[in-house]
Amino acid sequence: MDNNPKAGVTMKLRDKQLWLFDVDNTIVEQIEHPTPFQDALDLCDELVRRGKTIGILTNIGRLSSRQIQRILNSAGFKFEAVNVFSAGAAAAAYVHNRYPGARCFVISEGGAIEDFIARGLDVTNNPPVDFVAVGADRGLTYERLNFATKMVRDGAPLVCISGSRDYPGTYLGKEDTFIGERSIVAAIEDATGTKAVIVGKPLPEIFVESVRSLGFSIAESVMVGDNPASDVAGGRAASMTTILVRRDPSLILSYDSRGLDQTPDVTVNSLDEVISKL
Ligand SMILES: [Mg+2]
Repeated sequence: MDNNPKAGVTMKLRDKQLWLFDVDNTIVEQIEHPTPFQDALDLCDELVRRGKTIGILTNIGRLSSRQIQRILNSAGFKFEAVNVFSAGAAAAAYVHNRYPGARCFVISEGGAIEDFIARGLDVTNNPPVDFVAVGADRGLTYERLNFATKMVRDGAPLVCISGSRDYPGTYLGKEDTFIGERSIVAAIEDATGTKAVIVGKPLPEIFVESVRSLGFSIAESVMVGDNPASDVAGGRAASMTTILVRRDPSLILSYDSRGLDQTPDVTVNSLDEVISKL
């Protein structure tokens, strides 16, 4: 295990109370094929046994927090619904914090729409619209893309739910790569001249929001993930302790780290190494 302590991280891992995990390539291979990593199951079990709180902070936006929790718990984990933050939930919190009850046009496969409604936002397909939020949507139509563009042109801020250009997954019945929200948003940006705000890891605000909403302090919280540009960069910028687990490098999604430091506090080849540190 490599340790790379930074100033301000003085609490030992065993004293940390809140453990937030990334999903894809960290605790399961991929949410659409959620084969769990045994070391992730073992670490989560050990943390729960020790009375710690475990949660999820993921850039997945096409599934709701509730759907993600159900899939992960079917795979053998024991996450509580309130501790699971999808990218849609993070984007909903971002909008709510700026405009409670805002009227939102949401492009999504359904997950983000559920998260926006759960947050008390007014999801609508009709003008006027206060915010346009865009997630990956394999069923996106020209009509909805055009409506989103029109609403942004009329002044609605544009929110990108997470920031992936493409995803591995099933499309039209076969394994493929399909375009992500970042690329859909690029079309709207190009048509309107408006820049989107990307709400997803590594945006530090969503790490802070997730930790605080669960009633913990940043100092007692840990972020565990496979991706230096999202999990580590954002967690570190939010002053959380970060653990990088080395998984299949070909499955690390491409994110813009926005110039943030991507150096983890701890790097492991297996989450079993974390258990030995508790
Ligand atoms: Mg990941």
